Amino acid sequence: MENTRCFANRFSDYRGALLPGQGAEAVIPAVVSKIERILKKVPIDINDCDGGLYDGPAGVAYMLYHVSECPLFSEQREVYLKTAKQIIDVSVRYADAEPDKNMRAAFLLGGAGIYAVAAMIYKSLGLADFVKPLSKFRSLWEVCAPINFLECGSDELFVGRAGYLCAALVLKQKLGIEILSKDQIKYICQAIIESGKQYARRKRKPFPLMYSYYGTEYLGAAHGLSSVLQMLLSYQDMLSGAERDLVWQSVDFLMSQEQNCNWPAELGAIIERENELVHWCHGAPGTTTVNDAVSHYLLHIVVTLMVPSRPAGVAYLFAKAYLINKKPQYLDTCIRSGELVWQKGLLKKGPGICHGVAGSAYVFLLLYRLTGNSKYLYRAQRFAEFIFTEEFKAGSLSVTSIYSLFEGLSGTVCFLVDLLQPDQSEFPLFSVFV
Ligand SMILES: [Zn+2]
Repeated sequence: MENTRCFANRFSDYRGALLPGQGAEAVIPAVVSKIERILKKVPIDINDCDGGLYDGPAGVAYMLYHVSECPLFSEQREVYLKTAKQIIDVSVRYADAEPDKNMRAAFLLGGAGIYAVAAMIYKSLGLADFVKPLSKFRSLWEVCAPINFLECGSDELFVGRAGYLCAALVLKQKLGIEILSKDQIKYICQAIIESGKQYARRKRKPFPLMYSYYGTEYLGAAHGLSSVLQMLLSYQDMLSGAERDLVWQSVDFLMSQEQNCNWPAELGAIIERENELVHWCHGAPGTTTVNDAVSHYLLHIVVTLMVPSRPAGVAYLFAKAYLINKKPQYLDTCIRSGELVWQKGLLKKGPGICHGVAGSAYVFLLLYRLTGNSKYLYRAQRFAEFIFTEEFKAGSLSVTSIYSLFEGLSGTVCFLVDLLQPDQSEFPLFSVFV
């Protein structure tokens, strides 16, 4: 029976040689033309700014920034950065006017991510103004510090505290400055840990930390345990010995939830092989919305409904764990995830990074950076090649916002550029190597 969720991977595996024809001469024009396509579609009106970095115009600004940082695009750098500034300026005004302060503190769906990206773009342009969005970002600390600041769940990546920490991490990486004080970071980490302890205790979990988002106990990167733990590991120097133990116990607990190289979307769910998919994100129905930005996001949830699995996201947690303590079982877990992504990662849900082919391929770039094994670079090249085939174009679901960073072409562009500089490649806005 034909798999409705992914294309069959008919590519032969690595035999010692990378693909010819995927060098800068071929890829740069392809990237430039994709960017032209994106810029024709991206709205520049303040009334069309919701979706944040996830699928709003701000994500396009980030993509332009990312491309302009690559030395191979030095010719386009100035134009891309200026365009990025125009786009992000509108998004900043939108975030400033956001009446819900909780949404302003959201990373992928709200203001925190927009301010962070604005600071990066201004800094690249040499503007002293970059401190303005930074101080706006910093002031959001107070919003997300209270343990239950969001009713739907205060700790995940898109709108919760893990996202706020993730943005701080990206800023540290890109600007070379720790934007929050040690005490502020400690406080946020402790709130995440306390919140997870309380939830696990209340629900009588047999492990120390657990979280829910709209009532669902997600495990994957988008709203689940794995990205929360990843951020705590990223700041583990700020934790006490006892807190660190809780985090590592939870990492090992999550590792124990593997089912044949994969993880259920939700704690306790059983993966059926025929339904298996390998997204970065999560997919399960949400119940209510915080506001428009989230209801926009519900489109994404509809697209990914009934998707039970996401090694492509969980791999980043185990990569982080491996980078910290070098225990081979963490790397082995990443490698096993990568094998499943190679088999089932040619997804039919578009070219994007959230639940599309580029998101799958980023796992290979991650594995390349972890192991130095060219096999993974080859596999990423094959997935890149597939995005340009007729089979993909004809058989893939159309994407609602074609310009978006997570579902649309902006994420694809980031991936194609990273394939040209694999030693620095990283899933957008989700740093493991800081
Ligand atoms: Zn997704």
